[in-house]
Amino acid sequence: MTIHKNFKGIEKTVFGRGSFNQLGEIVEAQRHQNDQFMLYLVDNYFKGKDLARQIPAQPGDMVMYIDVDKHEPTTQQIDMIRDSVKATRGIPAAAIGIGGGSILDIAKAVSLMFTNEGSSQLYQGLNLVKKPGIYHIGVPTISGTGAEVSMTAVLTGPEKKLGLKCEWTVFNQVVLDPDLIASVPRNWWFYTGMDTYIHCIESENGILNNAYSHAFAEQALKLCREIYIGKDSGQTAANDDKLMVASLMGGLSLTYSEVGVCHALSYGLSKILGTRHCYANCLAFNHLEDFYPEGVKEFKTMIKQHDIDLPQGLSKDWTDEQVTAMAKVSYNLSHMWNHAIGSDWKDKITVDKIKDLFYRL
Ligand code: NAD
Ligand code: ZN
Repeated sequence: MTIHKNFKGIEKTVFGRGSFNQLGEIVEAQRHQNDQFMLYLVDNYFKGKDLARQIPAQPGDMVMYIDVDKHEPTTQQIDMIRDSVKATRGIPAAAIGIGGGSILDIAKAVSLMFTNEGSSQLYQGLNLVKKPGIYHIGVPTISGTGAEVSMTAVLTGPEKKLGLKCEWTVFNQVVLDPDLIASVPRNWWFYTGMDTYIHCIESENGILNNAYSHAFAEQALKLCREIYIGKDSGQTAANDDKLMVASLMGGLSLTYSEVGVCHALSYGLSKILGTRHCYANCLAFNHLEDFYPEGVKEFKTMIKQHDIDLPQGLSKDWTDEQVTAMAKVSYNLSHMWNHAIGSDWKDKITVDKIKDLFYRL
């Protein structure tokens, strides 16, 4: 018998330019919970900027600015935030993440760790979390990863890079205000947006694709094409509206299907070299024409149109040991290969074949 995924979605969503102004009303509705203060986790980029002044924090609320450029979210970082807040103030009524995928994952994970004991590293994996977390709200400021809708909070721990994945990870509320992504630097706008594009191409091209995942991918791809190809493409207000929606829909598509070869390689790059998710995807996707001929062709058109710098010949600086390690990480993501290649993927894909793919980079 086939077991179909029974996934949990975001409970409440507000979308639109200026919707950030409604955040105050949204958080106040939760103030009665726990120790009745709010914990804002905000990308350090916004410190001193207009958006920081618009955060509806009241006296007694906590606003923490977090630098996400030093490293991707770690279990140690989550434990420290939880422990310090708990020791000084107690348990917040709600955690509100304002930032990109990194901050959204931090908000999700911290929310769960206020109610689950011990280190967050104990909960890396599927359905290991014991209790629902505190109310958590996601406010994306860069679009593409789908972290706003996914049921995972990706953390790097001492042993593994793996998400806290369960129904309770999903945000209770998201606030999608396209004004917030206007300041994203052009390169990031491209790489992060391409994560959505790649989610859709991979979701569509594999055995787990179905009418539900297809409908979201088809629409998100249409939006990506409007944003990144042709005369109306570019980082405009109208396109930022579309990108926020595309990111969400791309995330929903892969939730009900699966990612594929590009993400399998990208995880290898991130794990061994620390390459950031969206950028790693772009580096890999550029060389996957054997698997996704049309998608890669279109991707190259977009790279050219937006004059994006994507380095080549990287692998000449890697040792064979490193490439082998990357290939092993990729090979072990069997659910991705199964989707992309088919249930007989082990007859077709070997660690050596994956190494050859890495050597193309
Ligand atoms: P990010 O949060 O890492 O931010 C990227 C850069 O953009 C940072 O320098 C940040 O300061 C900056 N930035 C963010 N918003 C900005 C704005 N409005 N203006 C100017 N600069 C801005 O970016 P990301 O690519 O969204 O997230 C990557 C992270 O997401 C990784 O840690 C990855 O593991 C995680 N991820 C999670 C999921 C999931 O489903 N949970 C999926 C994919 C990736
Ligand atoms: Zn991705």
